[in-house]
Amino acid sequence: LAKDQGKSTYCLFTQEMNNDMIEKTLLEMDLRQAISRNEMELHYQPQYDMKTGRMTGVEALARWNHSKKGLISPGQFIPIAEESGIILPIGLWILETACKQAKQWQEQGFPNIRMSVNVSIRQFKQPAFINNVLKVLQKTGLDPCYLNIEITESMTTDVDYSQKILQQLHNEGIHVSIDDFGTGYSSLSYLSKFPITHLKIDQVFLQDLSSSNTAIIKTIIDLAKNLSIDVIAEGVETDEQALFLSTLRCDEVQGFLYSRPLPKHEIEKLLQTVPV
Ligand code: C2E
Ligand code: MG
Ligand code: MG
Ligand code: MG
Repeated sequence: LAKDQGKSTYCLFTQEMNNDMIEKTLLEMDLRQAISRNEMELHYQPQYDMKTGRMTGVEALARWNHSKKGLISPGQFIPIAEESGIILPIGLWILETACKQAKQWQEQGFPNIRMSVNVSIRQFKQPAFINNVLKVLQKTGLDPCYLNIEITESMTTDVDYSQKILQQLHNEGIHVSIDDFGTGYSSLSYLSKFPITHLKIDQVFLQDLSSSNTAIIKTIIDLAKNLSIDVIAEGVETDEQALFLSTLRCDEVQGFLYSRPLPKHEIEKLLQTVPV
């Protein structure tokens, strides 16, 4: 009996695995068509200066509106795009769409709006990365200082390579954030070597303001201040979290408390009502 059970469990497991694989392959095929089918869209989440209350910029966040499955979150499709390499054309489309949008808002009378764009490791490691970024800036006419590239700690394990690329971005006047900071297990010593402009505190630390998490947030903010890097807290959802961050003089905030990521026209409405 035990053997039978083991066998049926095994069969079920492999069948599920196959279904997962089929599902993934189908999704991957659709993902290849997503841009030409106009299914990819960017939403933008505002970021605010804690001291002045001004909206300093937005983070572009990709949304995939699948014709049959509806909205698919980046947490689901970015890993598939990354693994299959489709992230390269999609990432370039994201970069160009975001820069074009920032330039448009600047021309509409909001000259200081900064555009943060997430790049994935495949893009960062691509030999043409810097060239692609420069071409997009040239094509869209966006001043490089209003582009902020978000990378994660885990992308910087090759310190020499990262330093070279980050230095090139810096030389071009492009800003760089380390996203999800504090979760990547990387050495802190690289921070002083990398010419970065922003640290984004990962939202896990804010979710529960336990004594160890508050200590970590304090440490990250102190570290950034000592290195003259601006700190952004993401995932701010409550007044309590906001108050805590302002007491520590965190520079900027982003989160549902202020605004969810919004489609283009919603941001345009917001820009009419908030200080920028
Ligand atoms: P991320 O770059 O760390 O982006 C922040 C995520 O937190 C976003 O999720 C955002 O919607 C969410 N968020 C913002 N405020 C709050 C809050 O107050 N509470 C909570 N619970 N969540 C909040 P989203 O849009 O689902 O994106 C997830 C991740 O997918 C991003 O994390 C990023 O790693 C990746 N991603 C999204 N768009 C892109 C893209 O265009 N390119 C690449 N390479 N990755 C992207
Ligand atoms: Mg990000
Ligand atoms: Mg993040
Ligand atoms: Mg994240």
